[in-house]
Amino acid sequence: MGAGIQGWGWSKPGLELAMLEGVDLTVVESRSLMHRIEVAMVSHDEWLAELYRALICGGSLSEEYTASDAFERCKFGQWLRMLCQYNEKLESLPLIKDIDFLHRRMHQSVQELLIYHGSNNVDRTVLATLYDEVIAKKMAFRWLVAALDHLICYQILHTDPLTNTLGREKLIATLNREIAEIAKNPARESLIAMIDIDHFKNINDTFGHLVGDRVLVEVTRFVKANLRPTDLVFRYGGEEFVIFLSGTSQTWAGTLLDRLRQRLSLYEITTSPVTLPINVTASFGVTRLTGNESVQDQLERADQAMYLAKTQGRNRVVIA
Ligand code: GH3
Ligand code: MG
Ligand code: MG
Repeated sequence: MGAGIQGWGWSKPGLELAMLEGVDLTVVESRSLMHRIEVAMVSHDEWLAELYRALICGGSLSEEYTASDAFERCKFGQWLRMLCQYNEKLESLPLIKDIDFLHRRMHQSVQELLIYHGSNNVDRTVLATLYDEVIAKKMAFRWLVAALDHLICYQILHTDPLTNTLGREKLIATLNREIAEIAKNPARESLIAMIDIDHFKNINDTFGHLVGDRVLVEVTRFVKANLRPTDLVFRYGGEEFVIFLSGTSQTWAGTLLDRLRQRLSLYEITTSPVTLPINVTASFGVTRLTGNESVQDQLERADQAMYLAKTQGRNRVVIA
């Protein structure tokens, strides 16, 4: 059984931080996913209710219960397949793999129980053991689905609903974790970049706050699209963001961020009701994380570098 329910230890602080990273669901997608999980589980309960009815009251069950591909035919199986087609990253999550595995095993156990139940000379002890197997698989499967639900809920709590970037609390937790990693392995290079959009107030003043909001959405979408999937973007304040680049050399990060800065300055943001494209620039303050300073001190260093970029004329990257 993959990592198994014991292996998950999903109440361990910090572990849950990592588990949906890189999946990049918007708040709306996450909410919809939670709802769909609930619907899929209700269908699964209906499926199980039919099974219990047949075992307790007698009567026949459809071929779907004993078919070798029962796990694919049931509504939960269909939902899981659709989910993985919709988001490949979700498919590769260990938790999703374990849910898939346990769901299959549960169907197999049901199949074994029903075949034995329908055979001649049924031994009640063997039957009870097979039934216990079904219930054990069902409970483990349910726990894993509850863990997934919990993680999605956690993701929603820590995602800014406007820009779909992560929040400050998650930034602090992520950086604390990374600082601890660097303390153990000082050769590890990870960086943070503080980004502040230049003269953003002018955009609000000229086009209105709603257009300002759209610009923030477009800028963050553009920034994410120009980074690696493992790089994380956090909303630090109104029009200020922090990028976390882990396992990256300073030289490489400097080049990547300067290319991002340049591309952003050329990116034409179109948003109604404004007819002309809007251009924005941003100032970047970059610093390498160390293993022996607090998160606040390191964020402060990135902020000072960003401030220097502002005073030097904006639209530039300063490495501290
Ligand atoms: P600078 O180049 O020095 O950074 O100038 P700036 O105008 O970007 O900076 P300033 O701090 O003067 O203004 C930031 C503005 O960002 C003011 C605030 O109203 C706006 N802002 C903050 N959060 C949001 C938001 O969520 N939506 C919109 N539309 N505006 C926001
Ligand atoms: Mg600012
Ligand atoms: Mg600004």
